[in-house]
Amino acid sequence: MTTAPPTQSKLESKAEPSPPDRPSAGSKETGGIDLARVPRELGRLVGNDETGPTLICLAGLHGNEPAGLSAFVRVQERLTSEPEGLQGHLVGLTGNRGALAKNRRYLVHDLNRIWNRDRVAALRSTPVPVEAEDQELRELDYALQSVLDEARGRVYLLDLHTTSGPGGAFAILDDTLPNREIAMDFPVPLVLGLEEELGGTLAAYCTALGITVVGFEAGMHDDPLAVEQAEAAIWIALDSCGALQPGSRLEVEQAHEVLAARNGVSSRIVEVRFRHHIDRQDGFEMRPDLSSFRPVEAGEVLASSSSGPITAPHSGLLLMPLYQDQGEDGFFIVSEVQPVWLSVSKVLRGLGMEKFLHLLPGVRRHPELPGSFIVDRRYARWLARQMFHLLGFRRVGRQGRTLVMSRRKDQAAR
Ligand SMILES: [Zn+2]
Repeated sequence: MTTAPPTQSKLESKAEPSPPDRPSAGSKETGGIDLARVPRELGRLVGNDETGPTLICLAGLHGNEPAGLSAFVRVQERLTSEPEGLQGHLVGLTGNRGALAKNRRYLVHDLNRIWNRDRVAALRSTPVPVEAEDQELRELDYALQSVLDEARGRVYLLDLHTTSGPGGAFAILDDTLPNREIAMDFPVPLVLGLEEELGGTLAAYCTALGITVVGFEAGMHDDPLAVEQAEAAIWIALDSCGALQPGSRLEVEQAHEVLAARNGVSSRIVEVRFRHHIDRQDGFEMRPDLSSFRPVEAGEVLASSSSGPITAPHSGLLLMPLYQDQGEDGFFIVSEVQPVWLSVSKVLRGLGMEKFLHLLPGVRRHPELPGSFIVDRRYARWLARQMFHLLGFRRVGRQGRTLVMSRRKDQAAR
């Protein structure tokens, strides 16, 4: 699994080496971190059990979201001065270093939309120089592979983000059973199905590698509360993956209290039903008074663009309204999933019910892709798609009236 090392040093690998224009570099909000000089590896703590789990905290995959870096540094300092209870390993990795230096979501490409196997493979053999985010991807890929190669126990990834709009913290997961087990420990709403809308996320790439992954949206970009909530997420992830001796750290208890007090909707599980895609030139502007998890009615005006008002195509809860000038996701609409369905789906997955999916109306096996089905949306509507989700499938393609649904990798609860 070892790949060629990045050809540039950790501190000097920016495709655009211009000076930082982030006013808050090194300020209190960024925990004293100089975002123009942040290393790829933020830190590494080795616990007292060599075969223990490894938790990777990934921070700043989007360059205007530095809260995770500060949070990691805080946890690292705490565990360095008082290492009691640490039995697994903790590694902090930085995402988009070039964009962090400029306080931009990205410079050329969104670093959380380009993790396709073919692209990663091609970049491993491409000579430098390459575009800004391709270089970031290559270095991050190398750093991740190094962690995987060294790990003797199971590897977990906590992908830390923040949002441009208000609405509290939430966790995001590709719905595999191992991902679920970790995500359910966070006392915040859980969002399923985002990966069907977004191609090339690092989370989906790592899930396919067998890493257990949870994304965590810690609050608004520059809100000090986002650092506090991201820190809480790290403590909970450390505990949940077994990197801490059970009951050994007061911080874990405090972390649950912090997140539960601010986001007290622990049983809320939602699934993405709609994404408003923004084209670069369409003058998208969100209505100014919206926040995540606010109920919306079908037909309600949520934003505007050069071609007129943009309305909600159906009722539900709003997620991640966009209040920044970069990004292709205007907003999402989600629906609540009753928690009982998660238990039902766990049982169904254990029974191998996917053997019978082709009997559903409008569903047939894919002739070329193993473990995949073609779904004709004229006959198999919402319910059939829900059935696929329950059984751990995700949409990997859409063409006109047909969807291609494939089984997620890493299905087994290990
Ligand atoms: Zn982000």
